[in-house]
Amino acid sequence: MPKSAQQLVTSPVANLRGVGPRMAEKLAALGIEQVQDLLFHLPLRYQDRTRITPMGALAAGSDAVIEGEVRLADVSFGRRRSLVCKMQDGTGSITLRFFHFSGAQKNNLSPGTRLRCYGEVRRGASGLEMYHPEYTQLDSDQPDPVATSLTPIYPTSAGLTQATWRKLCGQALQTLAHGALPELLPATSSSMALHEALSYLHNPPPDAPQQLIRDGRHPAQLRLALEELVAHNLSLEKLRRQQRAVGAPIMNTDRTALNEFTAGLGFNLTAAQQRVSAEIAEDLTSGLPMLRLVQGDVGSGKTVVAACAALQAIRSGYQVAIMAPTEILAEQHWQGFQQWFEPLGIKLVWLTGRLKGKARAATLEQLADGSAALVVGTHALFQQDVAFAGLGLVIVDEQHRFGVHQRLLLSEKGNAQIGRPHQLVMTATPIPRTLAMVAYADLDCSIIDELPPGRQPVQTLLIDSSRRDQVVERVAAAAAQGRQVYWVCTLIEESDALQAQAAEVACAELREALPEIPIGLVHGRLKPAEKAGVMAAFKAGQVQLLVATTVIEVGVDVPNASLMIIENPERLGLAQLHQLRGRVGRGTEASHCVLLYQTPLGKTSKSRLSAMRESNDGFYIAERDMELRGPGEVLGTRQTGIMEFRVADISLHADLLPTVQQLARELAESDARVADQLVRRWLGSAERFASV
Ligand code: ADP
Ligand code: MG
Repeated sequence: MPKSAQQLVTSPVANLRGVGPRMAEKLAALGIEQVQDLLFHLPLRYQDRTRITPMGALAAGSDAVIEGEVRLADVSFGRRRSLVCKMQDGTGSITLRFFHFSGAQKNNLSPGTRLRCYGEVRRGASGLEMYHPEYTQLDSDQPDPVATSLTPIYPTSAGLTQATWRKLCGQALQTLAHGALPELLPATSSSMALHEALSYLHNPPPDAPQQLIRDGRHPAQLRLALEELVAHNLSLEKLRRQQRAVGAPIMNTDRTALNEFTAGLGFNLTAAQQRVSAEIAEDLTSGLPMLRLVQGDVGSGKTVVAACAALQAIRSGYQVAIMAPTEILAEQHWQGFQQWFEPLGIKLVWLTGRLKGKARAATLEQLADGSAALVVGTHALFQQDVAFAGLGLVIVDEQHRFGVHQRLLLSEKGNAQIGRPHQLVMTATPIPRTLAMVAYADLDCSIIDELPPGRQPVQTLLIDSSRRDQVVERVAAAAAQGRQVYWVCTLIEESDALQAQAAEVACAELREALPEIPIGLVHGRLKPAEKAGVMAAFKAGQVQLLVATTVIEVGVDVPNASLMIIENPERLGLAQLHQLRGRVGRGTEASHCVLLYQTPLGKTSKSRLSAMRESNDGFYIAERDMELRGPGEVLGTRQTGIMEFRVADISLHADLLPTVQQLARELAESDARVADQLVRRWLGSAERFASV
């Protein structure tokens, strides 16, 4: 028996009673393919149908099971035609009301019929009522027993009723009794067995602490979250091991070249930059592929650190690819690296989706024959026909948009003779430590925890849009003192066209209100040359007020700009606001950021904007953002699916992480087979990323 239960649990759901091809298809659409997937399809919430409430004790606003006798059923022609059915049970009475009903239904509810109903009690026209309760007719000899556990309500989609879920999950749960799911975690790691935890959450006892379950903190949930996080961690560890199973080019540090480069920068590296650079330099000489994440607040100077790494690779005779998430950022890096590297005689090329025809062919050739040492680009870099003569280092400026598997694709562009390229990932916004432990468990982490000297914290003000005039006066006053100002327009729409339009309107209004100030406009719809022209004029101080869409979020660097107005900041995530705000506070002047919000402001929006006022620390803001929006949004990976857990939730279960890491390490060392089983159980087909 145990063997067959284990076989059943990993067999297709179609093996269950009541599952035909059509239903199997619907289940597959929800990611449920094997019987065990049903076990991990956990209820969203529960109903209590374990007690019958006497009608005399019913209170409006609660859900209840009642039993009683029909006294009268009639069609009422009030404001809306309805079937009204009066019931009583000796302690009191209640009215059932149906707005949709059939003639047969009315006939079945004849006086004297005994019913058991479940529904929400509300106060209606005739006292306490239930609208459209679920009901069954009671056979007086042998009434069905009431439920002995809370009734689960499953997440579902069209065509799959709660009754269906209960039947299917019920069948799957039966396999548990026969030891279908072996324990894979050491017995000491949790107080509850896996099968106990699953049974409990599918059918909690009547006295289950429902609030605790809603908070995700019930021991049964903690048990499952722990195992899920361990499985996730193991899968990333496995990825890391696979990566490191192959050797990588050894790139010796060329001190002279490095000194020559840093001497030309016009500033000294901060201690934090030097430390992180040294960590990277060591990785590059180790002979194992580097897998390193560099985190640092906006403006902390990550790019220079990346450039030092690139130089080490190039001077050792290898090629470097720098991948940015957007065309604008790619362009930005392209210009920066050109300025730094061309004087050193290094050949650079760029490659984005916009590069076509002959120009593209020429670039590809230079990468393939090795005459170009460095390429800056976007996703276009991992297209099939892009080949490298000797790719030694991949730098990804992540900005939260690439998933693990995308990163891997680029590292596959190495070649067998020289080994796997080193990988350096830079995140544009800090990630809460707990989240990094989970999402980047396959990477080593370096933090640039220091800003270049002389930066002043930006003071942030919240002003509601009815006081827009005062804000415009403030802009005028700042301009009169020779300061430069950003005015940022935000729209929910991702559409460049609508964003551009909003910025054009705001720009026209400001030109009218402030005729004496030179105003420039920049948005995503402008041609690159036009955009560059406006930006250059702003940099040179010829434009004093720059009206812009969020295109300036990335990488604009104008130290004389010391005031930023952000319209409708409530539309943006905190990380994005923090990025935007990072455009001011780069000079020696005290800087201000005005968040010009639309009223009324919801409670969450209010706390988000307050977090901006409270702090200039990107790590603090990232923590708050995660609390308020959840980890999926913060990482920007909601769509890519890499952070979709079944039970675990980083914001609720962060305290489990130290245990998770320890367990994962022990398992990986002691029993690779068990580790693999765990990964398969929890990640299922998602594990395909690991085999890239
Ligand atoms: P981020 O970490 O946000 O990517 P950047 O690399 O774009 O930051 O650097 C922001 C600005 O700071 C750039 O103008 C850069 O040249 C400058 N910068 C970087 N490091 C230093 C330093 N040690 N001292 C002074 N300025 C620096
Ligand atoms: Mg950057």
